[in-house]
Amino acid sequence: AKVQGKGRQVAYDSAMDQRGAEQARVAAELRTALDLGQLRVFYQPIVRLDDGGPVGVEALVRWEHPERGMIRPDLFIPAAERTGMIVPVGQWVLTEALRQAAQWRRELGPDALRYVSVNVSPRQLRETGFAATLRDELRTAGLPPSCLMVEVTETAVFDGGSALDELHAVKRLGVQVALDDFGTGHSSLGLLRTCPVDVLKVDKSFVDNVTDAGERSVIAEALIGIADGLRLRAVAEGVETEEQAAALRRLGYQYAQGYYYGRPVPAAELTSLRRAAAPA
Ligand code: C2E
Ligand code: CA
Ligand code: CA
Ligand code: CA
Repeated sequence: AKVQGKGRQVAYDSAMDQRGAEQARVAAELRTALDLGQLRVFYQPIVRLDDGGPVGVEALVRWEHPERGMIRPDLFIPAAERTGMIVPVGQWVLTEALRQAAQWRRELGPDALRYVSVNVSPRQLRETGFAATLRDELRTAGLPPSCLMVEVTETAVFDGGSALDELHAVKRLGVQVALDDFGTGHSSLGLLRTCPVDVLKVDKSFVDNVTDAGERSVIAEALIGIADGLRLRAVAEGVETEEQAAALRRLGYQYAQGYYYGRPVPAAELTSLRRAAAPA
C-alpha cells in the first residue's frame, strides 16, 4: 500500500528520508486525485444539545480511491500539510462546502443551516491573502460571511507567526472562527482572551469520560467554564451516547457533534437538515 497508517515507520537511519519520500509520493497521488475529481466532502451535523436540532455542519474531506475505497483524512492530511498540497486541497474543500451550503439554503431556507464549518490547516492560514480568498469565495457562492466557520488548531494560532494576523482579518470579514481540538494544544488562556475566536470545540478525549466521576469530567467542566467566562460558545466533539449528551447538558454545554447525532455522510444523505427544515 502506498498510503500507510501511522506507526508503520521503518526504524533505521534513513527513516526520515523514507518518510519524506513517502509523503512526496502521497502528495503526488493526491494531486492526481484532485485533478481526477476523486476527493469528496462529507458533512457531519453540529446540533443543539437541548433538542438535537442541527445548527451547522462540519465539512470533512475524503478520498474516494478507485482501488482502495474511501480513504480517511488522517491518512493523507499530514502528508498534504508537510508538502504544501493542503493548500489546493483545502481550497477545493472550501469552494465545494460553500457551494453545497448555498444550495441547502436555497432549497431548505436560511434557518435550516446557519453555517458550514471548514477545517483550515496552519499552512493555509499562513498563506498571505487567505482572508481575501474567503471573501471572494463567499461572494462567488452568494453567502453572507456569518454562514462560514473556519476551524483552526491552537498550535496554528499560538505559534507566534503571521497566522494570528490573518485570523484577525478573517474575523473582521464576519466569518466565525472555531478553535479545534480545544484542550489538547498549547492555548495560553491569557492569549485566548484577545484571540479572534467565537467557538471552542472541546476535544473528544474530554467527552469520552464525561460520565465518569473522575478527572476527565473535571476537565470537561473546566473547559465549559473557560468558554462561559470568555463568552465563547462551546461545542463538545465526539459525543457517542445519550449518557454523554446528558452529562454535557448538566455541565452547561449547549452544542455538540458526534456519532450519536450523526456520522459524516455525503450531502445527499444528510437527512437531518431536511427534517429540521420541514414542519413536523
Ligand atoms: P477533526 O477536525 O477533529 O474532525 C473530527 C473527526 O472526528 C472526524 O474524523 C469525524 O469523523 C470524527 N468524529 C466525529 N464524531 C465522532 C464520534 O462520535 N466518535 C468518533 N470516534 N469519531 C468522531 P475524520 O473525518 O476522519 O477527520 C479526521 C481529521 O482530519 C479531522 O479531525 C481534521 O483534523 C482533518 N480534516 C478533515 N477534513 C479536513 C480538511 O478539509 N482540511 C484539513 N486541513 N483537515 C481536515
Ligand atoms: Ca474540525
Ligand atoms: Ca476536532
Ligand atoms: Ca481531531
